[in-house]
Amino acid sequence: LNLTPYLLYTARQDEFAGISLIIGDTVFSTYSNRITHVSELKERPARSSKIEGLPLTVNLYAESWTMEDLVFALLFGLLCGSSIGVLCFYWLMMRANPRKEILTGIKQNQFHVVYQPVVGASDLQMRGVEVLMRWQHPGAGAIPPDAFINFAEAQQLIVPLTLHLFDLILRDAPALAKRLPPGSKLGINISPGHLHAESFKDDMRKFAASLPPDHFQIVLEITERDMLNQREATKLFEWLHLEGFEIAVDDFGTGHSALIYLERFTMDYLKIDRGFVNAIGMETVTSPVLDAVLTLARRLNMVTVAEGVETPEQAKWLRDHDVNLLQGYWISRPLPLEQFLNWQPDIHLDRE
Ligand code: C2E
Ligand code: CA
Ligand code: CA
Repeated sequence: LNLTPYLLYTARQDEFAGISLIIGDTVFSTYSNRITHVSELKERPARSSKIEGLPLTVNLYAESWTMEDLVFALLFGLLCGSSIGVLCFYWLMMRANPRKEILTGIKQNQFHVVYQPVVGASDLQMRGVEVLMRWQHPGAGAIPPDAFINFAEAQQLIVPLTLHLFDLILRDAPALAKRLPPGSKLGINISPGHLHAESFKDDMRKFAASLPPDHFQIVLEITERDMLNQREATKLFEWLHLEGFEIAVDDFGTGHSALIYLERFTMDYLKIDRGFVNAIGMETVTSPVLDAVLTLARRLNMVTVAEGVETPEQAKWLRDHDVNLLQGYWISRPLPLEQFLNWQPDIHLDRE
């Protein structure tokens, strides 16, 4: 009788906090150093054993939680919960992080280029192409270039993306050189983020040196907004011309600054935004703004390119107003390499 409860108690010390032996109404327990009455037992036992045939009960008591324990457990639970929450959040963010998506896209070859022919307005013969980038995302499908270019620009990813564009062009270059005669224009869109990057000059030199020698005339398409830093732009344009690159003002007429830049910088081409071209034929008194732009370009010795030519009427109007080059769906949509290699112009304009 003396030994059994003692063994029980010591063997399970970590789980049980106390023991009492109840003999009839008398209690002998670890809660008191004297013999007490059964009515004085306040705690509920965790386990209780009655010994058959004897007036003896053995109660074992477990540790109950104090207020402090409860607060501690609650705080611990909260901490664990929020840590798991934060981890999940970051995990999801990492998975859906478009910055990483672009880098993965480059690594996994999800980008490709398409080529849109540019033809002479008078003879409709191909003079060159504009290279446009495409992103076929495995989950989201085709992502429009306006969206991913702007995003890459904002995330400082435009340099790696443009370098990837250069690699894609270099991959196609031998085939392109067979389809396009020497001197053909290769129009490439350059974002301001790359234009003002330290590596820009090096990148351009390396790219040009890797193309088939003396075959393509590279034309860098730059929008008016990108020429804001006038001193830097003047120097850069001088350097580009010295190195043999040509410069086109892209989307002319949509920027904020427009005309003033034409006077300040020497640029070779003026690409008239398709907004102006769209308007041809819609306005009653032809297109006075477009007329003025064309007169100006001529006086500045710039070659004019009309973008977004969708109908023969527009093409005819542009040719009659001495626009030099035409580009648009009427001539051809932007084409993947294979289709471009087999493309033959199938367009006619009757002379009056
Ligand atoms: P952008 O430089 O003005 O390129 C011409 C856009 O007009 C292209 O759209 C082309 O598909 C579209 N287009 C051509 N002909 C017609 C037509 O007849 N009608 C109509 N409605 N649209 C026509 P895309 O390929 O969606 O490119 C949009 C813009 O994204 C480009 O405008 C350019 O600013 C940018 N972009 C495309 N590829 C690149 C690239 O490799 N690098 C950079 N920095 N920007 C690029
Ligand atoms: Ca362009
Ligand atoms: Ca354009």
